[in-house]
Amino acid sequence: MVNTQKTIGQEIGCAGIGMFRGENTTLHFKPALLNSGISFVRVDLPNRPRISAHVGSLSSNYRRIFLKRGDAEVECVEHLMAALAGLGIDNIEIEINGSEVPAGDGSAQLFVEILKKAEVVDLGGVKKVFVVKEPMGVNNGNASILAIPYEKGLALSYTLDFNNSFLQQQTYDIEVTEESFCREIASARTFGLSTYIEEFRRLGLGKGVTDENSIMVHEDGTMTKPVSQRPAELRFPGELVRHKILDLIGDLYLANVVIQGRIIAKRSGHSLNVRLAEMIVNNL
Ligand SMILES: [Zn+2]
Repeated sequence: MVNTQKTIGQEIGCAGIGMFRGENTTLHFKPALLNSGISFVRVDLPNRPRISAHVGSLSSNYRRIFLKRGDAEVECVEHLMAALAGLGIDNIEIEINGSEVPAGDGSAQLFVEILKKAEVVDLGGVKKVFVVKEPMGVNNGNASILAIPYEKGLALSYTLDFNNSFLQQQTYDIEVTEESFCREIASARTFGLSTYIEEFRRLGLGKGVTDENSIMVHEDGTMTKPVSQRPAELRFPGELVRHKILDLIGDLYLANVVIQGRIIAKRSGHSLNVRLAEMIVNNL
């Protein structure tokens, strides 16, 4: 692992609808200086407020990550954060002209492609690394994340388990490198249980859910496209558990550090993931 900070070589943009609000937004990525970190700039608001993509800006983690500064908010940042983590980008400015990051295909693929196109470049300074020196962890009910020392780099293990139900327990293990992230994790799409649909409708969310950006999992264990209800084909075995790893990588990157350690997560979601990110920041 080369531990030097990185940004992108040139400005680049992309646009699309957000999964929750269904509004079209445009992202404009800009290179940033050494040690300037990752920030969103709400270019549609007066004075263009800048929101740091750091766990300290967290305002909510209800089914996606919200970051906030004053009244300015940006939401659904986790798949983009995973792409930045996977490509080792430490410093970047992301202009956005609305509150929700575009969903792309429900994975991190869009962001990986666009950022690779802009070319990841070396800034030379030392990357911030958090070395897990002793076991640390968080839990909530039957969900847990444990981090233990591991000399070789970052290894993740995630167990997906919806408790005695239709979905079989799945575990996925990965030694995270740029290459393994891009090959095994980046294109794993978002999924939702059909039982969540009512909750979403009641809250007026999910307006941007399409057949192309998510997978719906039904109570009999079948998977369909969420709108047409046609059968959904997975991109690879274990796509659902791989997506949980994608979320975990994105959420932990709100600590803005590279983690050296082995992380074992069971049934965790955004709220527990960010608690570990907070713990890491408090132990820096
Ligand atoms: Zn996700």
